[in-house]
Amino acid sequence: MDSKDQLETAIAARRDDLIALTQDLIRIPTLNPPGQNYREICDYLKQRLEAAGFTVDLIRATGALADSDTYPRWNIVARYEGGAAGDTVHFNSHHDVVEVGHGWTKPPFGGVLEDGSIYGRGACDMKGGLAASIIAAEAFIATYPRFAGAIEISATADEESGGFGGVAYLAEQGRFDPARVQHVIIPEPLQKDRICLGHRGVWWAQVETKGRIAHGSMPFLGDSAISHMGAVLAEIETHLLPLLAGKTTAMPVVPPQARQSTLNINSIHGGEAEQAEDYTGLPAPCVADRCRIVIDRRFLIEEDIAAVKAELTDMLEQIKASRPRFDYEISDLFEVQPSMTDESSPLVQSVGQAIERVLAQKAEYVVSPGTYDQKHIDRIGRLKNCIAYGPGILELAHQPDEWIGVDDMADSALVMALTLAELLPTA
Ligand SMILES: [Zn+2]
Repeated sequence: MDSKDQLETAIAARRDDLIALTQDLIRIPTLNPPGQNYREICDYLKQRLEAAGFTVDLIRATGALADSDTYPRWNIVARYEGGAAGDTVHFNSHHDVVEVGHGWTKPPFGGVLEDGSIYGRGACDMKGGLAASIIAAEAFIATYPRFAGAIEISATADEESGGFGGVAYLAEQGRFDPARVQHVIIPEPLQKDRICLGHRGVWWAQVETKGRIAHGSMPFLGDSAISHMGAVLAEIETHLLPLLAGKTTAMPVVPPQARQSTLNINSIHGGEAEQAEDYTGLPAPCVADRCRIVIDRRFLIEEDIAAVKAELTDMLEQIKASRPRFDYEISDLFEVQPSMTDESSPLVQSVGQAIERVLAQKAEYVVSPGTYDQKHIDRIGRLKNCIAYGPGILELAHQPDEWIGVDDMADSALVMALTLAELLPTA
């Protein structure tokens, strides 16, 4: 039998285990925020992976953003050494899930199996991918007990809220040092026939316009920050957005509408603060002396972040030059550089070939419109050979009745196992 047939047999023999593992993971509600049951899921995985021969470290991201004694940020890193020196292939999954939301017809933490799909919050994003990578590693090790190199599996906290108590913390601890780990696969739900090479860049900023407070019955005595913000919004609509639409990229971003620079206004607030819902009084009449927007600018690998920021500042300066009493302030909130792994890297080539062998079709190379934990592996860990590859449909993430197909998990587990056989020479 060739490697594909052998590994296919080994994964088929583990199909019930794959289903049970996915169900068990879904049934531990690791909701984030606030970050519940992180220790429970790490303990479960520790037991599982130690039984499979892995050495397991439980790591709390002590002092990281959101870490507290009530909601400690627990992570695990498991390592299996082959018999000889070689590369390390690391599978990284986040174990946190987002809130349930409304509109479910299945129990969100029930792990119900129906017509070949498993339902639950986190089924596709990304407990199904985590389960597939564990089954892939176990099937590979059982089939080729003597291989060169090592396999690591991590399950990390807080991806949904920025990854600071998870992958960022591990990267700061040197866990993704290129001297230690050579290839990283993140089994996010990008579909079993697609390889995600990276993501666009992000810049979040707050823009505030300033005015002068006065009585609302005599607005001429004040200066409305909301009116000034209106001028900013008009300028964004008429000049900035068309400019951004003209900036296109060679990055294969999906969906294709995201193959350009984009800007979203995440929020706007002006004037008197909103009162609590139980407040029964009326608002007071005032001219707004502050108005704020939060912008979400996504930029391309062809763009420079300093130029991205200058573009907005230039626009505001132009308004200032032509509009009496206009004043503003910009503050940076968050930024991430774009990231894209080279298509010719051994990791991308190995996964691409494995997809062709398993699915009899060419792999599609894509780039994500938003960011995920690759940013920390790239920027803090300085490890370039990192992709997202995993089962599930991206659009189902964070939706009601989220599900993962068992066949899709099995197929992508086979792709992962074949990738291991390619990158870790077997005796
Ligand atoms: Zn995810």
